[in-house]
Formats: sequence, C-alpha cells, structure tokens
Amino acid sequence: MSSPDVGTTWSGTHRFAAPRLVEARTVEEVQELVRAGGPVRALGTRHSFTDLADTEGTLVTVTGIDPDIRVDAEAGTVSVGAGARYGAVAPVVHAAGFALHNMGSLPHISIGGATATGTHGSGDRNGGLATAVREIEYVDARGELVTARRGEPDFDALPVGLGAFGVVVRLTLDVQPTYAIRQDVYGGLPWGTVLGGLDAVTGGGYSVSLFTPDWAGDGPALAFVKRRLDVDAAPEEWLGARRLPQATIFDAPDSNVTEQGRLAPWFEALPHFRVDSTPSAGAEIQSEWFVARVDAPAAIEAVQRVAGRFAGVLLMSEIRTVAADGLWLSEAYERDSVALHFTWADDAEAVSRAVDVVEEALAPFAARPHWGKVHHLDATGIAAVVPRAADARAVFERLDPAAVFAGPHLQRLGLR
Ligand SMILES: Cc1cc2nc3c(=O)[nH]c(=O)nc-3n(C[C@H](O)[C@H](O)[C@H](O)COP(=O)(O)OP(=O)(O)OC[C@H]3O[C@@H](n4cnc5c(N)ncnc54)[C@H](O)[C@@H]3O)c2cc1C
Repeated sequence: MSSPDVGTTWSGTHRFAAPRLVEARTVEEVQELVRAGGPVRALGTRHSFTDLADTEGTLVTVTGIDPDIRVDAEAGTVSVGAGARYGAVAPVVHAAGFALHNMGSLPHISIGGATATGTHGSGDRNGGLATAVREIEYVDARGELVTARRGEPDFDALPVGLGAFGVVVRLTLDVQPTYAIRQDVYGGLPWGTVLGGLDAVTGGGYSVSLFTPDWAGDGPALAFVKRRLDVDAAPEEWLGARRLPQATIFDAPDSNVTEQGRLAPWFEALPHFRVDSTPSAGAEIQSEWFVARVDAPAAIEAVQRVAGRFAGVLLMSEIRTVAADGLWLSEAYERDSVALHFTWADDAEAVSRAVDVVEEALAPFAARPHWGKVHHLDATGIAAVVPRAADARAVFERLDPAAVFAGPHLQRLGLR
C-alpha cells in the first residue's frame, strides 16, 4: 500500500479533497482498509469530470490489482479485476475467440469505473457497457468479499452503482464469439435526414456516431459508421453522404484514431481512439444527456435553437444511441435512448452557463445526465428523471447502513 498525492481527475477539472489515496495491490488490502473504518470511495482511472468519486475519507483504487483475466468459453464470460482497462482486456478476450458487445470511445478507462457510471458506446441494439455485467465481486461495508449475480433480487441496482455500495474488485462480463467491424466515416449527411429518418441513420451500422462542432450548418460534420461485417466492403455513398478516405476528430493525429476503411477486430474499431495513443491532453470538460429515442428529433432541434448561446465554449458534440436496459440507475433504464454529448473547452464558468442552457432546452424531454459528466441536477432533479433512484438508494442504505461509501456528490444527488 502507498499514499501518493491524490491529485485531480484526468481532465484536471476536479482536485480531489480526499486526504489519502490507497493504491491497493490485493483484494485483502481493500478489505483491511474498509475494516479500518470509512468513509471510503473507490476511484477508477479518474475519467469522470466531477467530485463523483471524492470523499473526506480515503480513496482506494483497484487499478493496481492483477486483473487475472479469465475467459470461460462454456459460460460465455470473461472475469476480470475491476481496475483493468478495456484496452488491456479486449485483446485477450479476442485472442480466446470472443468479444464484448461494445466499447466506449476510449479504451483507457477502467471497467469498474465505466460500468459504475453507465458508460456506453453507440448502437441501436447495444445496451450500455454495464449491461454485460453478470457477476460483481465487491468488498462490502463490513470488509467482507461478496458476490452478487444477475437474477438475484436487487442485483439491477448494482452494475451502475456509482461506488455507492462497496468497492468492486472483480466483474464477470458476458462475451460472444469474436467479430469484425469496419469503420467508415461519411461527410455531408444532411440534418433533415437525421431529423426525419433517424432509424435509417442510426440503424446504418452496428454502432453509429454523429459529430457536430456547432449543431448548425447543413448537417453533422461527420458520421462514424461501424458496421459488423464478414466482407470487407462499404458503400461510397450513404444516405446522401460520401465516404471520406480518412477522418479525425478534435484535430487528433491520424495515428490516434482507430482503424478506418478496413475490417478490423471489434476492439480496434469500436472505440474512436487507439489504446496506444493519448486522445488529448485532457484540457476539456464533458457533459451528456440521454433522451428517449422517440423524442430525439425534437430534442436535437431544441439544442439547435439554443446552440448560439454556447457556441464559444463547445469544442465538439456527439450523438449516439443506446438500447434500453433494466439496470435501475442506467441512463437508458427502460428507455431506448439517444445520448447528446458535449465536449466543452476547459472553462468551468462558461461551461456552467452552457450546461444551464442545455438543461433548460432538454427539460421537456426528462433528459437524464451521464453520471460521470458535468450536469446541474440536484436530488429533486434526479428524482424527477431517474425513476428508480429511490429504490437504488434503499438498496445502498441496506447494504451500507453506516454510510461508509457515501460521498458528498452522491448526497447532493439524493442517492445516499
Ligand atoms: C476522454 C474521455 C472519453 C470518454 N468517453 C466516454 C464514452 O465514450 N462513453 C461514456 O459513456 N462515457 C465516456 N467517458 C466518461 C467515462 O467513461 C466515465 O466517467 C467513467 O466513469 C470513467 O471510468 P473511471 O474508471 O475513470 O472512473 P472514475 O472517474 O475514477 O470513477 C467514476 C465512478 O465510478 C466509481 N468507481 C470506480 N471504480 C470503482 C470500483 N472499483 N468499485 C466501485 N466503484 C467504482 C467511483 O467511485 C465513481 O463514483 C469519457 C471520459 C473521458 C475523460
């Protein structure tokens, strides 16, 4: 165990107030720490943008525990230490002949932290990453190692659990036979096609992401279409858009973005960024809201109407789709969703004003915020848009009656 400086989130947008960070090397060290008394909060790879993980007590990270990746072909699972990054696990799963159902834009993120916040990729039929979680092994408030399994009562409160009930040390995820993805980027897709024919656009691939720097102009600047194929071919023209030979986002060098224009193993084409590159220096702030798919065209138009009010602070927006699931705190809980993402410049005051503008525009759609990104909803706001918030809180309080894993952020949201 060691106690280095606690430091900041990856983006530098939050400096942790916690006086201590323990980098556990074994599960037993996590147990000892919890038994010594709380408050304790788990920290992943620090890719959230707020004080979500913070505590006045001790932060503990399991990223230093041996991930001990175990693929079980018969069960159709991979079991892995929760601190492992997707980018480290995916090639091992692929080499064993299997695949995860999806990945987020960045493979550098820990599986424990990603699933805890409802992190997602895109795809009309792809649930968030936490929907793959079949078993959770965690250190509970007594310091005991507990396994929760899909199908057990209240399990659905736990995969998107925000660190609110324990320190997750191991996860068992569903896998499927490995597959190939061909990623092609198209320019010139008209907004009219997006608004009037969303099904054709987002159904145009296994995973489709639309990028716009301003919500204005003739259409989104780029459409990243990730098709699950056996044959290495893609149309040059797609819904009035044309295929670009090579495209990038955020002015990242070509070497930072994942394979385009050829079939590649799923983990080399589903994320936008390569695992062996750094996507940016982190000088950015992110927000994202989820609306019901049926409301998406109206919600996009609502954002377009106010886009001039945050033009100076928006670097890039991304529109993705997420399939409905049954996880209580999932942003796509029982709602096929469209996620509207905003990468802002690193200017906290201007971003705060922009977040107010977007939240006001999206209020008629009961938009749910991404738990790991910047939003302004308080307990009342969360209760209004997250139908199972009170149920999840009841489970967290039952599992952790002494509030060992509560933190100021969760208390503000009314979840502890
Ligand atoms: C460049 C960038 C790209 C991103 N791309 C996407 C994207 O494509 N899709 C998307 O949905 N999000 C995206 N995100 C957001 C990111 O996936 C989430 O913020 C995610 O939570 C980060 O995981 P982490 O390991 O960094 O968690 P942290 O930020 O370290 O922690 C987040 C939460 O998870 C809890 N937690 C972490 N580890 C554990 C554990 N072992 N046990 C219990 N609780 C734990 C913490 O207590 C905290 O509440 C992106 C963020 C960045 C910076």
